Amino acid sequence: MFRRKLAVLVGCLSFGVNAAGYDLVTLGSKGGIQDGNLTAFMLKSDQDDNYVMLDAGSVVNGLIVSDEKGAFSDIKVPETSPYTKVGYLLKERIKGYFISHAHLDHVAGMIISSPDDSNKPIYALSATNDDLQNNYFNWSAWPNFGNEGKGFKLSKYTYTDLPEAQWQPVAGTSLNVKAMPLSHSGGLSTAFVMKDTDGDMFAYFGDTGPDAVEKSDALKKVWSSLSEHVKNDKLKGIVIEVSFRNETPDKQLFGHLTPKWLLEELKTLESLSGKGSLKGLDVVISHIKYSLKKGESPETIIKRQLEEANTLGVNFHFPQQGDTLSFAP
Ligand SMILES: [Zn+2]
Repeated sequence: MFRRKLAVLVGCLSFGVNAAGYDLVTLGSKGGIQDGNLTAFMLKSDQDDNYVMLDAGSVVNGLIVSDEKGAFSDIKVPETSPYTKVGYLLKERIKGYFISHAHLDHVAGMIISSPDDSNKPIYALSATNDDLQNNYFNWSAWPNFGNEGKGFKLSKYTYTDLPEAQWQPVAGTSLNVKAMPLSHSGGLSTAFVMKDTDGDMFAYFGDTGPDAVEKSDALKKVWSSLSEHVKNDKLKGIVIEVSFRNETPDKQLFGHLTPKWLLEELKTLESLSGKGSLKGLDVVISHIKYSLKKGESPETIIKRQLEEANTLGVNFHFPQQGDTLSFAP
Protein backbone atom coordinates (compact mmCIF):
# COMPACT_ATOMS: atom_id res chain seq x y z
CA MET A 1 0.00 0.00 0.00
CA PHE A 2 2.75 2.43 0.90
CA ARG A 3 5.24 1.26 -1.69
CA ARG A 4 7.05 4.20 -3.18
CA LYS A 5 9.44 4.79 -5.99
CA LEU A 6 12.46 6.23 -4.25
CA ALA A 7 14.21 9.33 -5.38
CA VAL A 8 17.40 8.83 -7.30
CA LEU A 9 20.48 10.97 -7.36
CA VAL A 10 21.23 11.81 -10.96
CA GLY A 11 23.61 13.85 -13.03
CA CYS A 12 21.00 14.11 -15.69
CA LEU A 13 17.92 12.13 -16.58
CA SER A 14 15.57 12.34 -19.50
CA PHE A 15 11.91 11.66 -18.94
CA GLY A 16 9.02 10.67 -21.13
CA VAL A 17 6.91 13.61 -22.22
CA ASN A 18 4.12 12.84 -19.80
CA ALA A 19 6.19 11.69 -16.85
CA ALA A 20 5.23 13.54 -13.71
CA GLY A 21 7.25 14.01 -10.60
CA TYR A 22 9.85 16.52 -9.53
CA ASP A 23 13.50 17.37 -10.09
CA LEU A 24 15.41 19.14 -7.34
CA VAL A 25 18.81 20.74 -8.00
CA THR A 26 20.86 21.69 -4.95
CA LEU A 27 22.31 25.15 -5.65
CA GLY A 28 23.44 25.45 -2.04
CA SER A 29 23.41 22.84 0.70
CA LYS A 30 24.81 24.55 3.77
CA GLY A 31 23.13 26.55 6.54
CA GLY A 32 26.11 28.90 6.82
CA ILE A 33 28.96 29.89 6.89
CA GLN A 34 30.35 29.00 3.46
CA ASP A 35 29.54 31.89 1.13
CA GLY A 36 28.88 30.40 -2.29
CA ASN A 37 27.13 27.33 -0.86
CA LEU A 38 24.15 28.61 1.14
CA THR A 39 20.61 27.22 1.23
CA ALA A 40 19.03 27.25 -2.23
CA PHE A 41 17.20 24.64 -4.32
CA MET A 42 15.76 24.70 -7.83
CA LEU A 43 12.54 22.73 -8.17
CA LYS A 44 10.82 21.70 -11.39
CA SER A 45 7.78 19.61 -12.10
CA ASP A 46 8.24 17.24 -15.01
CA GLN A 47 5.03 18.68 -16.43
CA ASP A 48 6.83 21.80 -17.62
CA ASP A 49 10.31 23.10 -18.34
CA ASN A 50 10.60 25.89 -15.82
CA TYR A 51 12.08 26.04 -12.36
CA VAL A 52 11.36 27.92 -9.16
CA MET A 53 13.93 28.76 -6.51
CA LEU A 54 13.29 27.55 -2.98
CA ASP A 55 15.28 30.06 -0.95
CA ALA A 56 18.19 31.77 -2.64
CA GLY A 57 21.28 31.78 -0.42
CA SER A 58 23.51 30.91 -3.39
CA VAL A 59 22.29 31.46 -6.93
CA VAL A 60 24.93 32.12 -9.62
CA ASN A 61 27.65 30.12 -7.87
CA GLY A 62 25.14 27.31 -7.32
CA LEU A 63 24.24 27.37 -11.03
CA ILE A 64 27.92 27.25 -12.02
CA VAL A 65 28.73 24.30 -9.74
CA SER A 66 25.54 22.45 -10.73
CA ASP A 67 26.20 23.00 -14.42
CA GLU A 68 29.73 21.66 -14.02
CA LYS A 69 28.26 18.57 -12.32
CA GLY A 70 25.97 18.00 -15.31
CA ALA A 71 22.70 18.99 -13.64
CA PHE A 72 21.52 20.79 -16.79
CA SER A 73 23.15 18.68 -19.48
CA ASP A 74 19.78 18.03 -21.15
CA ILE A 75 19.04 21.75 -21.41
CA LYS A 76 20.22 23.48 -24.58
CA VAL A 77 20.60 27.23 -24.78
CA PRO A 78 18.72 28.41 -27.91
CA GLU A 79 21.07 29.66 -30.61
CA THR A 80 19.29 33.01 -30.63
CA SER A 81 20.04 33.53 -26.93
CA PRO A 82 23.01 35.80 -26.11
CA TYR A 83 23.47 34.09 -22.76
CA THR A 84 25.69 31.37 -21.33
CA LYS A 85 24.01 28.30 -19.85
CA VAL A 86 24.13 29.90 -16.41
CA GLY A 87 22.72 33.17 -17.74
CA TYR A 88 20.00 31.43 -19.71
CA LEU A 89 18.91 29.39 -16.68
CA LEU A 90 18.80 32.43 -14.40
CA LYS A 91 17.06 34.72 -16.85
CA GLU A 92 14.75 32.38 -18.74
CA ARG A 93 14.14 29.20 -16.78
CA ILE A 94 13.85 30.36 -13.17
CA LYS A 95 10.36 31.84 -12.89
CA GLY A 96 10.27 33.02 -9.30
CA TYR A 97 11.78 33.01 -5.83
CA PHE A 98 10.14 31.43 -2.81
CA ILE A 99 11.73 32.98 0.24
CA SER A 100 11.07 31.24 3.56
CA HIS A 101 12.45 34.09 5.67
CA ALA A 102 14.80 37.00 5.14
CA HIS A 103 17.90 35.73 6.96
CA LEU A 104 20.97 36.51 4.88
CA ASP A 105 21.93 32.86 4.30
CA HIS A 106 18.61 32.38 2.48
CA VAL A 107 18.64 35.51 0.30
CA ALA A 108 22.27 36.53 -0.35
CA GLY A 109 22.47 34.91 -3.80
CA MET A 110 19.28 36.58 -4.98
CA ILE A 111 20.43 40.01 -3.82
CA ILE A 112 23.90 39.70 -5.33
CA SER A 113 22.64 38.44 -8.69
CA SER A 114 19.78 40.96 -8.89
CA PRO A 115 21.51 43.50 -11.21
CA ASP A 116 21.70 40.87 -14.00
CA ASP A 117 18.58 38.90 -13.16
CA SER A 118 15.38 39.00 -15.22
CA ASN A 119 12.07 40.33 -13.95
CA LYS A 120 10.33 37.84 -11.69
CA PRO A 121 8.07 37.52 -8.67
CA ILE A 122 9.27 37.04 -5.12
CA TYR A 123 6.71 34.84 -3.39
CA ALA A 124 6.65 35.00 0.40
CA LEU A 125 4.45 35.63 3.39
CA SER A 126 3.87 39.37 3.65
CA ALA A 127 6.13 39.81 6.71
CA THR A 128 9.06 38.28 4.79
CA ASN A 129 8.48 40.51 1.77
CA ASP A 130 8.38 43.47 4.18
CA ASP A 131 11.75 42.38 5.59
CA LEU A 132 13.25 42.20 2.08
CA GLN A 133 12.14 45.70 1.14
CA ASN A 134 13.01 47.25 4.51
CA ASN A 135 16.41 45.61 5.05
CA TYR A 136 17.94 44.93 1.64
CA PHE A 137 16.27 46.52 -1.39
CA ASN A 138 16.22 49.96 0.21
CA TRP A 139 18.97 52.00 -1.59
CA SER A 140 21.10 51.67 1.56
CA ALA A 141 22.09 47.99 1.70
CA TRP A 142 21.38 47.62 -2.04
CA PRO A 143 19.43 49.37 -4.83
CA ASN A 144 15.69 48.93 -4.68
CA PHE A 145 15.06 46.26 -7.31
CA GLY A 146 11.58 45.73 -5.87
CA ASN A 147 8.26 47.24 -6.88
CA GLU A 148 7.60 48.54 -3.35
CA GLY A 149 9.63 50.11 -0.57
CA LYS A 150 11.96 53.08 -0.26
CA GLY A 151 12.88 55.54 -2.99
CA PHE A 152 12.86 54.91 -6.73
CA LYS A 153 11.56 51.43 -7.53
CA LEU A 154 13.45 49.57 -10.23
CA SER A 155 10.55 47.08 -10.22
CA LYS A 156 12.53 44.06 -11.36
CA TYR A 157 11.03 41.97 -8.59
CA THR A 158 7.33 41.90 -7.88
CA TYR A 159 6.64 41.25 -4.23
CA THR A 160 3.90 38.66 -4.27
CA ASP A 161 2.43 38.12 -0.81
CA LEU A 162 1.07 34.63 -0.33
CA PRO A 163 -1.97 34.21 1.89
CA GLU A 164 -1.52 31.58 4.59
CA ALA A 165 -2.65 28.06 3.76
CA GLN A 166 -4.35 28.85 0.46
CA TRP A 167 -3.43 27.46 -2.95
CA GLN A 168 -2.07 30.03 -5.38
CA PRO A 169 -0.89 29.57 -8.97
CA VAL A 170 2.82 30.01 -9.75
CA ALA A 171 3.15 32.04 -12.96
CA GLY A 172 5.19 30.45 -15.75
CA THR A 173 4.99 26.94 -14.28
CA SER A 174 2.49 24.10 -13.88
CA LEU A 175 2.67 24.51 -10.09
CA ASN A 176 0.39 25.74 -7.37
CA VAL A 177 1.78 26.70 -3.98
CA LYS A 178 0.46 26.80 -0.45
CA ALA A 179 2.48 28.78 2.10
CA MET A 180 2.31 27.91 5.79
CA PRO A 181 4.05 29.79 8.61
CA LEU A 182 6.80 28.16 10.69
CA SER A 183 8.33 29.24 13.98
CA HIS A 184 12.06 30.02 13.80
CA SER A 185 13.35 31.04 17.22
CA GLY A 186 10.16 33.01 17.73
CA GLY A 187 10.55 34.66 14.31
CA LEU A 188 8.60 33.78 11.20
CA SER A 189 9.70 31.25 8.59
CA THR A 190 7.70 29.42 5.93
CA ALA A 191 6.90 26.01 4.52
CA PHE A 192 6.00 25.99 0.81
CA VAL A 193 3.89 23.07 -0.40
CA MET A 194 3.94 22.63 -4.17
CA LYS A 195 1.35 20.80 -6.22
CA ASP A 196 1.49 20.03 -9.92
CA THR A 197 -1.46 19.47 -12.25
CA ASP A 198 -1.45 15.72 -11.46
CA GLY A 199 -1.80 16.48 -7.75
CA ASP A 200 1.75 15.33 -6.97
CA MET A 201 3.06 17.30 -4.00
CA PHE A 202 6.46 18.44 -2.79
CA ALA A 203 7.07 20.25 0.51
CA TYR A 204 9.94 22.64 1.25
CA PHE A 205 10.57 23.79 4.81
CA GLY A 206 12.54 26.92 5.64
CA ASP A 207 14.38 27.08 8.94
CA THR A 208 12.24 25.81 11.79
CA GLY A 209 12.52 24.75 15.38
CA PRO A 210 10.53 21.84 16.82
CA ASP A 211 7.07 22.75 18.09
CA ALA A 212 7.91 21.59 21.63
CA VAL A 213 10.90 23.95 21.88
CA GLU A 214 9.29 26.84 19.98
CA LYS A 215 6.10 26.44 22.03
CA SER A 216 4.21 26.53 18.76
CA ASP A 217 1.84 24.38 16.75
CA ALA A 218 3.13 25.60 13.39
CA LEU A 219 4.76 22.31 12.33
CA LYS A 220 1.76 20.32 13.56
CA LYS A 221 -0.44 22.37 11.24
CA VAL A 222 1.82 21.63 8.27
CA TRP A 223 1.89 17.90 9.13
CA SER A 224 -1.91 17.93 9.40
CA SER A 225 -2.26 19.46 5.97
CA LEU A 226 0.23 16.98 4.47
CA SER A 227 -1.18 13.85 6.12
CA GLU A 228 -3.92 13.22 3.56
CA HIS A 229 -1.33 13.43 0.77
CA VAL A 230 0.89 10.93 2.59
CA LYS A 231 -2.09 8.58 2.85
CA ASN A 232 -2.78 8.96 -0.87
CA ASP A 233 0.91 8.54 -1.71
CA LYS A 234 0.88 11.97 -3.38
CA LEU A 235 3.63 13.53 -1.27
CA LYS A 236 6.71 12.87 -3.40
CA GLY A 237 9.31 14.34 -1.09
CA ILE A 238 10.22 17.00 1.41
CA VAL A 239 13.21 19.23 2.08
CA ILE A 240 13.70 20.04 5.74
CA GLU A 241 16.56 21.27 7.85
CA VAL A 242 18.72 19.59 10.45
CA SER A 243 21.17 22.25 11.58
CA PHE A 244 22.65 20.70 14.71
CA ARG A 245 23.62 17.34 16.16
CA ASN A 246 21.68 15.71 19.00
CA GLU A 247 24.14 16.89 21.64
CA THR A 248 23.05 20.52 21.13
CA PRO A 249 20.95 21.64 24.11
CA ASP A 250 17.41 22.80 23.30
CA LYS A 251 18.15 26.31 24.51
CA GLN A 252 20.94 26.58 21.95
CA LEU A 253 18.88 25.49 18.94
CA PHE A 254 17.86 29.06 18.02
CA GLY A 255 14.94 27.85 15.96
CA HIS A 256 16.54 24.81 14.33
CA LEU A 257 16.19 21.02 14.36
CA THR A 258 18.43 18.15 15.44
CA PRO A 259 18.12 14.53 14.18
CA LYS A 260 16.17 13.63 17.31
CA TRP A 261 13.77 16.53 16.91
CA LEU A 262 13.22 15.94 13.19
CA LEU A 263 12.35 12.30 13.89
CA GLU A 264 9.98 13.41 16.66
CA GLU A 265 8.29 15.77 14.23
CA LEU A 266 8.08 13.09 11.54
CA LYS A 267 6.45 10.80 14.12
CA THR A 268 3.73 13.41 14.45
CA LEU A 269 3.22 13.23 10.68
CA GLU A 270 3.09 9.43 10.89
CA SER A 271 0.58 9.52 13.74
CA LEU A 272 -1.67 11.71 11.57
CA SER A 273 -1.17 9.63 8.41
CA GLY A 274 -1.21 6.08 9.77
CA LYS A 275 1.33 3.60 11.13
CA GLY A 276 3.97 2.71 8.55
CA SER A 277 2.79 5.49 6.25
CA LEU A 278 6.19 7.20 6.02
CA LYS A 279 8.04 4.09 4.86
CA GLY A 280 10.08 5.09 1.83
CA LEU A 281 9.17 8.79 2.02
CA ASP A 282 12.04 10.81 0.55
CA VAL A 283 13.33 13.36 3.07
CA VAL A 284 16.08 15.72 1.89
CA ILE A 285 18.19 17.19 4.68
CA SER A 286 19.26 20.80 4.28
CA HIS A 287 21.01 23.52 6.27
CA ILE A 288 23.83 21.53 7.92
CA LYS A 289 26.35 24.17 8.87
CA TYR A 290 29.83 24.18 7.36
CA SER A 291 32.34 23.45 10.11
CA LEU A 292 35.73 25.07 10.68
CA LYS A 293 36.68 22.44 13.23
CA LYS A 294 38.92 19.40 12.70
CA GLY A 295 37.51 15.94 13.23
CA GLU A 296 34.31 14.24 12.20
CA SER A 297 32.12 16.51 10.09
CA PRO A 298 28.69 17.61 11.36
CA GLU A 299 27.24 15.97 8.25
CA THR A 300 28.69 12.56 9.13
CA ILE A 301 27.40 12.83 12.68
CA ILE A 302 23.92 14.05 11.67
CA LYS A 303 23.64 11.35 9.02
CA ARG A 304 24.53 8.65 11.56
CA GLN A 305 22.17 10.02 14.20
CA LEU A 306 19.29 10.13 11.71
CA GLU A 307 19.91 6.64 10.33
CA GLU A 308 20.38 5.00 13.75
CA ALA A 309 17.00 6.24 14.97
CA ASN A 310 15.13 5.90 11.68
CA THR A 311 12.35 3.57 12.89
CA LEU A 312 9.92 5.23 10.46
CA GLY A 313 11.74 3.84 7.41
CA VAL A 314 12.04 7.20 5.68
CA ASN A 315 14.62 7.59 2.96
CA PHE A 316 17.06 10.34 3.97
CA HIS A 317 19.10 12.24 1.36
CA PHE A 318 22.10 14.49 1.96
CA PRO A 319 22.74 16.24 -1.36
CA GLN A 320 25.89 18.26 -1.94
CA GLN A 321 25.94 21.46 -3.95
CA GLY A 322 25.28 20.66 -7.61
CA ASP A 323 23.51 17.34 -6.93
CA THR A 324 20.15 16.64 -8.57
CA LEU A 325 17.47 14.45 -7.04
CA SER A 326 14.62 13.08 -9.12
CA PHE A 327 11.33 12.20 -7.44
CA ALA A 328 9.26 9.74 -9.43
CA PRO A 329 5.50 10.30 -9.75
ZN1 LIG B 1 17.26 31.49 9.60
